[in-house]
Order: sequence, then structure tokens, then C-alpha cells
Amino acid sequence: MAKHQFQTEVNQLLHLMIHSLYSNKEIFLRELVSNASDALDKLNYLKLTDDQFKDLKFDPRIEISFDDNAKTLTIKDSGIGMNENDLIEHLGTIAKSGTKSFVENLTGDAKKDSNLIGQFGVGFYASYMVADKVEVISRKAGEAKAYKWVSEGKGEYDVTEAERDEQGTTIILHLNDEGKEYAGRWSVKTVIEKYSNHIPYPIFMDYKEKEYEEGKEKGEVEKRDQINSAKALWKVSKSDLKDDDYNDFYKTISHDSEDPMLHIHTQAEGTLEYTTLFYIPKKAPFDLYRVDYQPGVKLYVKRVFITDDEKELLPTYLRFVRGIIDSEDLPLNVSREILQQNRVLANIKSASVKKILSEFKKLAKESDKYAEFIEQYGRPLKEGLYQDHMNRDELMELVRFKSNKVEGWTSFAEYKSRMKEDQKAIYYITGENEANLRNSPLLEAYKDKDIEVLIMADDIDEIIIPSVTEYKETPLKSVNRTDTADDLKSEKDEEAAKAVEPVLKKMKEILGEEVKEVKASVRLSDSPSCLVADENDPTAHMAQMFKAMGQEMPKITPILEINPKHPIVAKLNDMKDDALFEDVTHLLFEQAMLLDGSELKNPSGFAKRLNAILEKAL
Ligand code: ADP
Repeated sequence: MAKHQFQTEVNQLLHLMIHSLYSNKEIFLRELVSNASDALDKLNYLKLTDDQFKDLKFDPRIEISFDDNAKTLTIKDSGIGMNENDLIEHLGTIAKSGTKSFVENLTGDAKKDSNLIGQFGVGFYASYMVADKVEVISRKAGEAKAYKWVSEGKGEYDVTEAERDEQGTTIILHLNDEGKEYAGRWSVKTVIEKYSNHIPYPIFMDYKEKEYEEGKEKGEVEKRDQINSAKALWKVSKSDLKDDDYNDFYKTISHDSEDPMLHIHTQAEGTLEYTTLFYIPKKAPFDLYRVDYQPGVKLYVKRVFITDDEKELLPTYLRFVRGIIDSEDLPLNVSREILQQNRVLANIKSASVKKILSEFKKLAKESDKYAEFIEQYGRPLKEGLYQDHMNRDELMELVRFKSNKVEGWTSFAEYKSRMKEDQKAIYYITGENEANLRNSPLLEAYKDKDIEVLIMADDIDEIIIPSVTEYKETPLKSVNRTDTADDLKSEKDEEAAKAVEPVLKKMKEILGEEVKEVKASVRLSDSPSCLVADENDPTAHMAQMFKAMGQEMPKITPILEINPKHPIVAKLNDMKDDALFEDVTHLLFEQAMLLDGSELKNPSGFAKRLNAILEKAL
């Protein structure tokens, strides 16, 4: 007998299964049936594409049986199976890096946490919610030997040689007190109907029924029922499907326990023949912002499963979409390389994107629902603005932003409809924090003039929005940039600027290389100073982001804008005390940096100057 130790992460996971995740324990069955179905998919594909497996006897099915006395539940499939190595690798370690974040994502709320199980690909271990011992007997297709894996889920497992008639996997659960109800026909049937009805292979239930003769028990007979419909749901005609059918199927393929936000079912005939069934989950997948995210769309060819690991089936900005693409026109033996440049698939992809975006447009008509959608997916949609030039116009209608004028989310179209008659541009401010942006000195003049400014506090806004130069011929302008304020300039501003020219010159001499320029501002009304970026420079926030990503950024020097109408500035105009002038200049620069969200280079100098001035004032 060969003893093995579980990987640390597996132990952590098992501990959770055994001690905290009971509340939704029935999903263990969904996970095991889904693994069995995957194993059948894999063998089905091999048989069709690999000569070595061409003549293999293959009767795809899943069989479930139980023993009420011994309290065991057995799930048997005729799929691809596992050899010794596979058992150790797949059931002793967790290869996917998502598992770490599974543990990080745990909330302590047992119900929520158990919903995470399937999503993180830790399905098999869910057995330990209901069993105190699990046996896995498996034989890999094309191999002669079978192996048995046994574990009580406490640190170690054994793998030994075993017997099995044909390829496939048998899983025997020795049920604990939590799970003993699953040694019964009705509880198993209910769970299968709920989660696995549309698994495309038959699921059989074996059970014994007592026989009676003239009211007397005569003995028991063995019976077998098929307990799922085993139809590829996406092939069923749309008119025969109800929302419940769609929602149930969604749960089988996504491992999500909630209904989806919407489903999009397309059965295309004509030059290209294909079926797509897409779902938008209510909650964004946990790995939406991970580089190693799991793609949500599975590819089938003529109902045969091909891959669930192809990230290019939809553009990456739609990586939150779940579902199925089934093509009638692709060969079964499509390879990875072929997939990526295949014309048929490219056409299906572009038609699918158009369809999905048009459904989003419909959803946008229901503002409450759309707000929920935007909360979850607003950010990836914005990624689309620079990824998908073909559909940029559509996406420009779909993205939403906050604004200093209205509650909730608003669109470019709505902004435009509110624009003042002589307004020259759509204005926006970018930065780190919505509340700070709303109070930024950069907005003062816009507030005074009652001009709307979009608030863009999402990291990616600053990278993406500058690449969008206009919306329906109205330019988009960032108020963080110096030249934008030229739109606001009046003759009076010019005069005020002239009057403070000597002050500005002196300030520039004091600040030297720290600023590119000291300018009279037209955008300030209450504040004495602010920082802006030169037209082509990255803003301070953008520079911070690049630094955080470990990227080198050329040093950027901001422009200091001074409010010529502010009393402090007026006083500087006839100040005789040079030391005081210098302190005030630094303080005006430093407070502008703080308001811009930048770090001070010399905080102790700042405090010293501030105290010197406080002393004078008191
Ligand atoms: P996931 O299914 O998300 O990969 P699991 O922990 O449920 O995670 O399973 C781990 C791996 O074990 C699977 O990816 C698969 O390779 C293998 N496996 C599990 N059940 C079976 C089965 N019935 N037949 C063949 N392989 C299986």
C-alpha cells in the first residue's frame, strides 16, 4: 500500500469541507456528476479524433446506486478514467492557482462560501462534506491496470492496484451523519433533477423495490431508472424552453447557485450553422481580474465537447460571459492552432459579440437592472473601448460614468443632451477616489459656470478614455490637463493673469525644476492653487499606477496653476518679506500636491513652513 500526503492547500480545503461548509452540502453531487460528464466528454472526443481509441467500446453513461444499510453512495462513469499518476496529481494536489484565492475569498458565511466551491474547481473535495471516507476506483482508457485511491480526508491517502472491468471511474462515498440521507433514492433524484438534468449523457439510478403478492412481501427486485433528460439543451428549439430550463442549465455549466442575469440563445441557420447559448452571471466571476482567469465559454462541434480552455472564443473584455458555442461547420479534430485563425470561428465570434452587445443595449432600457449590470461589468466594458474598434460606437452607448450633476450612472448620450448651448466639449476628471474627485479644486470653475463634469475614478479610465477622443463629434476633454481650461477663458481672466505675472515669475524661480510652469488659472474660484498635467504628459495618478505595476515611468513635472483672484495671491503681489514669500510659494505647491493625491517629497519641510506661518498668524 502506497501512502501519500496531501498538498498543504488540499488539507486546508478538506478542513473547510469537513468543518464549516455544510449549509449547501447537496452540491457535492452536482460536482461529482459534472466531473463524470467531463470524463465522458474527454473520451468521446478522443474516440472521434484519435485512431488509437477508434475501436474502443464506448457506452457513455453515469450510474448512481446506494446501499441504505452500509450508508454508501456510488457514482460510476464510463469516461476517460485515471491512472496511478492521474489519481495522485488530480486528487492529491490542486494545480489551479485559483485555489489560493478561493481560500482568500472565504467570507466565513458558510452559505456564500459553499457557492465558491464549484467556481474554484475544487469540486471533488466537496465529497467530504457528506462522507468521512471516499474510495475512487479508476481505469484509464487504453490501459490495462486499474487503481484505487482511498482517503478519510485527514492529511493522507492511499493508492493501490485494483480491478475494474472497463475504463472509467467509480466513486464510493461512505456517508457521515451529515450525508446519510443520500443513501436514498429520493434525495439523490431531487438533487440530480435540480442540478444535472441537462448533462448530455444518461444518468441511471439503480435501486431495489419490494415486491408484494396478495398483500404479502415476496422479496426485492432490482430496478433502473434514467433520472435526467440527457438532452443538449442548447439544441432544443427556443420555443420549447422556459426560463427555468435555461436557469437550471446555467447552474450545471457555471457551478453558480444563483440564477443568471440574462441568457442569450441563438440558433443560426444559413451559410453558417451554429448554436450559441450565452449567460451573464448576476455576480462577476471571482477571477475576472486575474491574468489566469478561467474562460467561461465551452466549444462544441456537432454536440461533441471540444474545449473549455480557449480564451479567444470571445474577446477578453467579455470574459465574464458563460455558455456554449456549438458549430456544425468545424471539423472535429480542430487543433488549438487552427482554432485561433479559423474563419468559421472568427465569424461566429463576431456575430456573437454583436448579438451580446445588442442584448446589453436592450437591458440598458431598464435602468435599475442596468445599474446592477454596470456595477458588475462596467469596467470590462470600458476595456472594450480600446480592444474592439469594430464595436466602439456600440460600446460608447453602453459604458456608464458618475457625474457631478446627476445621481447614479450616466451615459455619454445623456451627458450630451444636458450640455449647454455654447459648451465645447464633454468634460471629465480622472483620479483615484470618487469623493476626492468630487471635491477637487479643478472642478471649481465648472461648478461656477454650471458645466457638468464626468467623474472617472476607475484605474483604467485614465488609460482608456484618452484614447476615445470624441463622442458623436463632441470632443472629450480631461479637466486634469492644462489646455482644457482655455475653453473657459474670458477677457477678464486675461487681465487678472497679466496683473500677477511678476508673482508667477518669482514663484517659478523658487520652485525651479519641480514644476514645468507656473500659470494663472481660470478654473479656480475658492482654492488658491492646483496641479494639472501638460497636454501630452501622463497625469500624476497615471504615473503612480504604472509605478505600482512595476513599470518605469519618465519623471513627469506638473504645471502649477495659481488663482489670480485669490486673496493670498493678491497679498503676494505686494509682499516685501522674501522668506515669507518663499514659504507661501512652497505651501501653495504642496497643498496642490496633496489635493491631487500625490505624496509630498519633503513632509517635514512642509510642517516647518506651516508652523512658521501659524506662529505669525496667532
Ligand atoms: P475540477 O473538476 O474543477 O478540475 P475536481 O477537484 O473536481 O476539480 O477534479 C480534479 C480533477 O480530477 C479533474 O480535473 C479531473 O482531471 C480528475 N477527475 C475527477 N473526477 C473524475 C472522473 N470521474 N473521471 C476522470 N477524471 C476525474
